[in-house]
Amino acid sequence: MKPFSICLSPGHTAENPGASRGVITEYGLSSAIIGDLIFRLDKAGHTAHLIGSDSNRNQVERINEIDPDFGLELHFNNSVRESWNGTMVLYSGSRKGRKLALKISNSISGLLGTKNKGAVIGNYRLDRRRPIIEIIRKTRCPFVVVEPLFLSNAQDFEKIDVPLISIAIMEGIYKYWEAI
Ligand SMILES: [Zn+2]
Repeated sequence: MKPFSICLSPGHTAENPGASRGVITEYGLSSAIIGDLIFRLDKAGHTAHLIGSDSNRNQVERINEIDPDFGLELHFNNSVRESWNGTMVLYSGSRKGRKLALKISNSISGLLGTKNKGAVIGNYRLDRRRPIIEIIRKTRCPFVVVEPLFLSNAQDFEKIDVPLISIAIMEGIYKYWEAI
């Protein structure tokens, strides 16, 4: 496989850790998974850049400066409707973004046994999470936001497995890279 470069960002920050269930937060989980993923990708000879999520503008600037082959930010979904569950990956609408989103969603859903909601276009009209939409739209490379499951759903929560999610994302990335 030809080596690739990728920008990876955990969702949220230690100060504002995003959604939570007990002591488990989006930031804590996504940091653990992104750290593991960077280790695996580096070991396999790819160039993985860790992007912090301090401010959207800094993130977008840094990603566009690095100009990687593609990138992703990791979040965990949350809803007041406890029944909502499943894996989805947001993209901006580009052909490559859609392909990347689908490969990752298929892979996570396959390995974790979550419902596959597939690739979802992030747009302001349907989604109030403005920072997420901005990062997928303002980055020049194919960039997706991965939401492996819903923290708010008890069955999804049981399926959390840090190395397995990392491996699933890596597998999805590889399938995308081999297909383009
Ligand atoms: Zn989030």
